[in-house]
Amino acid sequence: MNPSKRRSWAEPFKIKMVEPLKMLKREERQKCLEEAGYNTFLLRSEDVYIDLLTDSGTNAMSDWQWAGMMTGDEAYAGSKNYYNLEQAVQHYYGYKYLVPTHQGRGAEHIISQILIKPGTFVPGNMYFTTTRLHQELAGGTFVDVIVDEAHDPANLHPFKGNVDLNKLDALVKKVGADKIPYITIGVTVNMAGGQPVSMANLKEVRAYCQKHGIRVVLDATRAIENAHFIRTREKGYGNTSLAAILREMCSYSDAATMSGKKDLLVNIGGFLALNEWDVFEEARNMVVVYEGLHTYGGLAGRDMEAMARGLVEAVSEDHMRARVGQVEYVGEKLIEAGIPVVRPIGGHAVFLDAKAFLPHLKQVQFPAQTLAAELYLESGIRSMERGIVSAGRNKETGDHYYPKLELVRLTFPRRVYTQAHCDVLIESVEAVYENRTKIKGLKMVYEPKYLRFFQARFERE
Ligand SMILES: *Cc1c(COP(=O)(O)O)cnc(C)c1O
Repeated sequence: MNPSKRRSWAEPFKIKMVEPLKMLKREERQKCLEEAGYNTFLLRSEDVYIDLLTDSGTNAMSDWQWAGMMTGDEAYAGSKNYYNLEQAVQHYYGYKYLVPTHQGRGAEHIISQILIKPGTFVPGNMYFTTTRLHQELAGGTFVDVIVDEAHDPANLHPFKGNVDLNKLDALVKKVGADKIPYITIGVTVNMAGGQPVSMANLKEVRAYCQKHGIRVVLDATRAIENAHFIRTREKGYGNTSLAAILREMCSYSDAATMSGKKDLLVNIGGFLALNEWDVFEEARNMVVVYEGLHTYGGLAGRDMEAMARGLVEAVSEDHMRARVGQVEYVGEKLIEAGIPVVRPIGGHAVFLDAKAFLPHLKQVQFPAQTLAAELYLESGIRSMERGIVSAGRNKETGDHYYPKLELVRLTFPRRVYTQAHCDVLIESVEAVYENRTKIKGLKMVYEPKYLRFFQARFERE
């Protein structure tokens, strides 16, 4: 398209409350970074200028959601907000039963404990940290069945989140379908760069799994962003509403785990949604032990109301166009500047390719961790490592996993930053890129046992 002809999307909202930002001097940032052990998770939010650590729970709620907060029914049992949420989930996702949880991992814990027996295998289209850990803690072994293209940051496949049916079939042949309780399909795939799964692929996987008696569980955390990509990239969906696409996507699965902190425009909340009564019964029993009564699952009534209303707003085409449009804006400008990023640009984040950015560093020198630290030092922008630190260790060999992708994630909170913030970000990344040859690697000096990326500490080499 001729860029001068392009019509801008602009934010489909105006701002009525602001939160001032603080900007530190470079020496102050250096001190903060050392105190945080070169781990952006350990920085204080106050010391951050533009916070792109995550899109999880960092969303700005609308006036309608805040109004809903005031209608919170804080009854211990049977809160009206639970029924509102149940109705919204049934309507938009199409599942029959709802179990609210405090956030996504609460739902992952419950479904993993119910369906996974020790010695079984759980295929998935690339792992997600908490999902895989809950599967492993339940005694399962995760097996990656994503298409090869997902591991290549330069490949332009429009649906890099797709499941490779041959890989799935090879697993079934090797271990037997009875050893596979379910497949997890992430829509979109966070760890691959926010890459979507096509409707055609969901259909194919469903048909294959039905034949072999394997359940399909969606990680629906960013399913509405995925629906946007199906709408814009997959033949035959250009005029279909996001809501209809979402329903169809979910119709090819038996259950979904959900982190409301992403798509659903809230700061806390999640759920497990199911179609099978028996599994629902067990989940409803378990949620009482680990989260709270089955009509609140660790959430306040007001949180459930905000999530129900957030869902209505999230399926609006204007919202999603601006949401993904902002991410694409940054991605395209960085590509124009010659910065190595994962392509195509995903739905919730732009991923810098740290291996290509800092080719002089070996993977054990933590190039992505280093780059995230450097970007904070340059301009107070907080990002996150998604590479060898996040991948953790192989529990058998004790060695690091060595993921092919070594990325820094610039993640965009929904409705929080403006295009001017985006321009500052683009300039800052360019400034780090200009000085890249002088950047030294890191060594890990403290390593926690689980999900080490959250709390690990580093020093400069
Ligand atoms: C955030 C996330 C989760 C976990 O949800 P929480 O609400 O953080 O517990 C699971 N899967 C994906 C893809 C996510 O992005």
